[in-house]
Amino acid sequence: MASSSVKVAVRVRPFNSREINRGAKCVIQMQDKSTCIANPKQHKEAPKNFTFDYSYWSHSSEEDPSFASQRKVYQDIGEEMLLHAFEGYNVCIFAYGQTGAGKSYTMMGKQDPGQQGIIPQMCEDLFRQTADNTAPDLSFSVEVSYMEIYCERVRDLLNPKSRGSLRVREHPIMGPYVEDLSKMAVTNYSDIADLMDTGNKARTVAATNMNETSSRSHAVFTILFTQRRHDNMTSLDTEKVSKISLVDLAGSERADSSGAKGMRLKEVANINKSLTTLGKVISALADMHSTKKRRSDFIPYRDSVLTWLLRENLGGNSRTAMIAALSPADINYEETLSTLRYADRAK
Ligand code: ADP
Repeated sequence: MASSSVKVAVRVRPFNSREINRGAKCVIQMQDKSTCIANPKQHKEAPKNFTFDYSYWSHSSEEDPSFASQRKVYQDIGEEMLLHAFEGYNVCIFAYGQTGAGKSYTMMGKQDPGQQGIIPQMCEDLFRQTADNTAPDLSFSVEVSYMEIYCERVRDLLNPKSRGSLRVREHPIMGPYVEDLSKMAVTNYSDIADLMDTGNKARTVAATNMNETSSRSHAVFTILFTQRRHDNMTSLDTEKVSKISLVDLAGSERADSSGAKGMRLKEVANINKSLTTLGKVISALADMHSTKKRRSDFIPYRDSVLTWLLRENLGGNSRTAMIAALSPADINYEETLSTLRYADRAK
């Protein structure tokens, strides 16, 4: 396999109680890096096989080495991406998949011990590593923003008073940005945990007020990490700034599946457009990387607000990882297969 700029993982969740009660069957098998899916309606059809950087299994005991705990997922993907951020790269981690497949669990997780997702673990790790720093000439600052993109509009999740959507603008040097988006300086993990909590609550409240579900919007948690080195001889400071974007994408289900009943046409079109554009951008970047082409003018960043705002995190000086969340159940076969195909194109 050609080396790729994008790390791609898939993760299958355990059965939920509804699936257990209905006697759902598991259509996924995993071994090392490969994931295999069998069509429950066509037993004669050969199972389809895919290979990813990581295939994460949940259907064994936690002691089993194949079991993908929150810790393991963070150690494989989060730690590597944080290392790149310390090196000065922009980094981006996406969770893609059908609603209920485990995106939020993978990105945010739960408060209980061992259940925290990539975002809280990465924030904790970031502060642990900066606290361990003993170089007197090196200092750090961390700023956080948290926004939601719904129907191509941006909402600030850290400023509950901000009504309506914010404008997306372009800075001649820094590139695309959101005007008036709150950026909070944080100095320890508990500050950041409070902001995450505020943002997650705002997301639910906004969704309820607008008669939506939060599964129809993309949630983008951004950490702006600055490392400043002071040169005593010249009294000059040099800065290394890295933007870490952690994205819980809108559910990828199509309008005709039961999970998307009642979804308005405009919503469907917008969600599909941004997920399709993201897929195109990532595969164009992967192609560019593997063929050593350096032209980036054909990458369709502008086709969706999501990809436009993440431009600096996707191309150029950046490292990207995608985790595709999968349901194990036979009833979700079509959606799960389409998630696997999407993840496969990102390699
Ligand atoms: P999504 O964000 O894709 O809509 P969620 O992350 O909310 O889905 O997951 C749906 C449910 O399944 C939640 O109750 C979540 O805790 C549970 N879940 C998802 N993935 C896992 C996993 N790998 N291990 C245990 N529970 C999981």
